[in-house]
Amino acid sequence: MIFGPVPSRRLGFSLGVNNIPPKECSYTCVYCQLGNTLKLSHIRKEYYSTEQIVNAVKEHIAKLGDSVKIDYITFVPDGEPTLDINLGRTISALKNLGIPIAVITNSSLIDIEEVRNELSAADWVSVKVDAVDKQIWHEVDRPHGSLDLDKILNGLLEFSGRFKGKLVTETMLVKGINDTEKNFSQVSAFIKKFNPDKAYITIPTRPPAVGSVLPPDITALNNAYQIFKENNLDVELITGYEGNAFSSTGDFAEDLLNITAVHPMREEAVIELMKKENSDEEVLNKLLKSNRLIKSKYNGKTYYLRNLKFERANSQ
Ligand code: SF4
Repeated sequence: MIFGPVPSRRLGFSLGVNNIPPKECSYTCVYCQLGNTLKLSHIRKEYYSTEQIVNAVKEHIAKLGDSVKIDYITFVPDGEPTLDINLGRTISALKNLGIPIAVITNSSLIDIEEVRNELSAADWVSVKVDAVDKQIWHEVDRPHGSLDLDKILNGLLEFSGRFKGKLVTETMLVKGINDTEKNFSQVSAFIKKFNPDKAYITIPTRPPAVGSVLPPDITALNNAYQIFKENNLDVELITGYEGNAFSSTGDFAEDLLNITAVHPMREEAVIELMKKENSDEEVLNKLLKSNRLIKSKYNGKTYYLRNLKFERANSQ
């Protein structure tokens, strides 16, 4: 029920709370890394009592000892956390421990006022926005038949208007389903309406529920990033390679790969970094030749991205 803490780029050291049995969800996303949904449901109910979860968290923390750092207690279950009718009570009880609370939700029940109220008590909430077009939403997230996308999108806008914590979005891209420029424009324009602290673009990195699901091509990934940026969103890629865009090692090749795993870089910025780190074009060309780095054009400009296909092939 409790695991970690695990290092997370978004949350630092995150202690996971699994408040839903495997795998009960309101969606059956084609890319779900937990496999197919075993119970598709949109009705909230009790799975564990608040006391059970709070006691489990306390016991887990006690076992870890004082030296273990925990930045967030995160609801990240084997299903959709807001299906848990005790979520609000449990968040309030856990807040007494003095550790910030995070919830990663697929947003499907956010049209329900109690769900919005309960999530408002958290310190950090991640909401999923894979598509704002109904057909694409059905194809990628395969929702429970009773769910209504318009209501969900309105619920998201209402929630964002009142939430005082950190709000981030997550958009998972799947090749051939939601990786078109039209979808990127629609999704980013919608997300811009509530301007989250961060808009993350993610791709499937572990075996998906549907075997044929593939991540988007590098060009589509770069297009998505650039279109989100054009909508003035603070966007970052999550591609399975946790680049550290914020610390410089002084090694041009390593820094370039780290940054471009998260932020595609314009050619001019790459040259600037190269000069700053006293490197030369030979290093850059080597990365391109060995396929670790890849060039992609968007609107006449050249961008460099870390080549995820190369990384995947070499990590297997
Ligand atoms: S919402 Fe999350 S848990 Fe549910 S099917 Fe989609 S990816 Fe899996």
